[in-house]
Amino acid sequence: MAKRKLGLVGVGKIAIDQHLPSIAETGLFELVAVTSQRGIEVPGACTFKTQAEMLAAMPEIEAVANCTPPGVRHGATLEALNGGKHVLIEKPPTASVAELADMVGAAQSARRTLFATWHSQFNSGVDKAAEILRARPPKSAQIIWKEDVRRWHPGQEWIWQAGGFGVFDPGINALSILVKIMPAAVFVQSADLTFPQNRDTPIAANLILAGAQGSGIGVISAEFDWRQEGEQTWTIEVALHDGGALTLTHGGTKLLIDGMPDIALPDDEYRRIYRRFDDLIANGQSDIDARPLHIVADAMLLGKRRVTDAFNW
Ligand code: NAP
Repeated sequence: MAKRKLGLVGVGKIAIDQHLPSIAETGLFELVAVTSQRGIEVPGACTFKTQAEMLAAMPEIEAVANCTPPGVRHGATLEALNGGKHVLIEKPPTASVAELADMVGAAQSARRTLFATWHSQFNSGVDKAAEILRARPPKSAQIIWKEDVRRWHPGQEWIWQAGGFGVFDPGINALSILVKIMPAAVFVQSADLTFPQNRDTPIAANLILAGAQGSGIGVISAEFDWRQEGEQTWTIEVALHDGGALTLTHGGTKLLIDGMPDIALPDDEYRRIYRRFDDLIANGQSDIDARPLHIVADAMLLGKRRVTDAFNW
C-alpha cells in the first residue's frame, strides 16, 4: 500500500530525536517535506520556511506532524486542517484551553483527523496499569517528576516565556499518564508554583489533586522539579484499597505490581504514535484528550506563587 505523504513542521529536538526515526521505522508515512525557519534540511525531503509555503507547493501532502512549541500550534493546526490535511500535534497541544477546543471544532468541520499526542501514554506499562486499576481500585497516589532542564531543553528560551509551560512541559507527561490510568476523574485541590525571579514560567510545582466524589480516590500529590541533576526521576506510585501498590517508573516504561517487576519494555512511544495516527486516518477518527491540559490550567488558576533564584543557562 502507498505510504501517506507527510510534512513535518519544526525541526527541533523532539523532531530529530523521535519523529524522524519513528516515521522511517514504522514505514506508514513518507516524509516528503519539512518546514524549518532556520533552513534545516532532512535527506529526501524538501525544506520550506513556512507551512503555508509547504502546503501551497506540495498539494500531495496528506498529513502534517507539528513539532513546534505549543504557542505556535493553534494557528498552524487550523491552517493545515483548513487546507484539508490530517494533523498530528506534539504535547502540550496548545498554550490555552480555548485554543484546543477551537481546534477540535475545526477538525470536525474540516472532516479531518486531529491527533493530539501524549507520548507518555504510549508506554505499555501505562496500558497495563490502567487495566489493573479498573480491577483493583486506587486509594491515593504520589507523582515525582524531577529532571534537569539543561539536559532536556538545552537553550530553549520558549519554555521560560509565558505560555511556555515551564516545568509543566515535562510535568504534563506525568498528568497524561495519571488521567489515563485512573478509573475516575481527578481534580486539582491546590498548587504551589515556584518561579525563578527572572522567568515567567515555573521551575518547580507541587500539586495536590483528589479523585471525583465517591470514586474512593483520595489525595494525589505531585512534585515537579526542573533542578534535578544526576539520576532523573519520573515515577508514579499508586496505593490500592486492597493494600497493594502499583508503581510506574522511568516515565511509564517500567511497571511494578505489589513491588514485583512486571513490564520493562524499551521505549517505543513514538512508533506506536505513528501507527495510531495511520489508524485514526484510515478510520476517519480524531483523538484529543484535553484532561492533562485542564489540570495544568487549573494548577495555574489555583496556584500560589513563590519566587526563587534567577535561572540562567
Ligand atoms: P525545540 O528544540 O525548541 O524545537 C521546536 C522547533 O519548532 C524549533 O526548533 C523551530 O524549528 C520550530 N519553531 C519554533 N518557533 C516556531 C514558530 N514560531 N513557527 C514555526 N516553527 C517554530 O523544542 P522541542 O524540545 O523539540 O519541543 C517541541 C515540542 O515537543 C514541545 O511542545 C515539547 O513539549 C514537545 N516535546 C519535547 C521533548 C523533549 O525532550 N525536548 C519531548 C517530548 C515532547 P525550526 O527552526 O526548524 O523552524
